[in-house]
Amino acid sequence: MSLNDIKTRIAAAESAAGREPGSVTLIAVSKVQPPERVEAVLESGHRIYGENYVQEAQRKWPAWRARYPDCSVHMIGPLQSNKAKQAVELFDAIHSLDRISLARKLAHQMAEQGRSPQLFIQVNTGDEPQKAGILADELPGFIAACREMGLNPYGLMCIPPESQDSTPHFRLLRRLAKENGLTGLSMGMSADFESAIAEGATHVRVGSAIFGARDYS
Ligand SMILES: *Cc1c(COP(=O)(O)O)cnc(C)c1O
Repeated sequence: MSLNDIKTRIAAAESAAGREPGSVTLIAVSKVQPPERVEAVLESGHRIYGENYVQEAQRKWPAWRARYPDCSVHMIGPLQSNKAKQAVELFDAIHSLDRISLARKLAHQMAEQGRSPQLFIQVNTGDEPQKAGILADELPGFIAACREMGLNPYGLMCIPPESQDSTPHFRLLRRLAKENGLTGLSMGMSADFESAIAEGATHVRVGSAIFGARDYS
């Protein structure tokens, strides 16, 4: 298990960037991983996990939460509006708020359930037509609309285009957060979390570098 290696690399990247030790939150992305791999990381004391699919999280996490009550589970994958209820029940943070219809459903469910998961708005920093996320130009209007609904977004999230250097995307996300008065920056995955930390990431989402490759077969 390479959780400790990743923690060491995060600490080194924090230090290299002149950032406070511990200022970056590591989300261990446990989607699709065999339960024994996740249990090994739970046993070692790590408590913050990321999932992409509501149904998978519903299947896995109630039992783990019963054994490790101080766990938090972050939704990092695309969220269908008809899963808003379950998402608000299950998750401590949602990183994929990417459209008004979803914001409305989440606002309704949060009021109904009296729960307030931390919210990150997903930004389509590469302007990719097939990718989810709010376009940079539309972000101020989207944030204003969220605030009018009573939502209080905590930060921004991005998934840079696969074939490009991530750094300009991380920089753009940081600038957008600053311009819009948001604190959280969810950026960086197994391949690029160190450059994300250099650019100010508050949350990195690391899966395969901790757990090994995912087997989708
Ligand atoms: C799967 C996933 C990750 C983790 O990816 P790795 O390359 O395995 O670290 C991070 N963020 C999102 C949004 C994901 O879907």
